[in-house]
Amino acid sequence: MIKALIGILVSILAVTFLRAVMTLLVKGAKEAMQPEPEKAAGNAPPESGTRLRKCKTCGTFAPETRMLRHSTRETDVFYCSKDCEKQAAA
Ligand SMILES: [Zn+2]
Repeated sequence: MIKALIGILVSILAVTFLRAVMTLLVKGAKEAMQPEPEKAAGNAPPESGTRLRKCKTCGTFAPETRMLRHSTRETDVFYCSKDCEKQAAA
């Protein structure tokens, strides 16, 4: 009878311990996967892998994804806005 009680107690302790370890592991993994926004904003560029391009009309630099692209045979031309695009065409 006492043996059975000890067995139950040990298994309860083991489960509690394992749960604590799992919680810590999950928490640690989450923190590793999602770094704090403040840190990320300071160190890494906002859009990694995005190149800065110069507007042909006004010379403003902006990420390629936000620019209007005009592909020619030789090269790609970028404009920061519709206005600059119009000015270049005029
Ligand atoms: Zn421009």
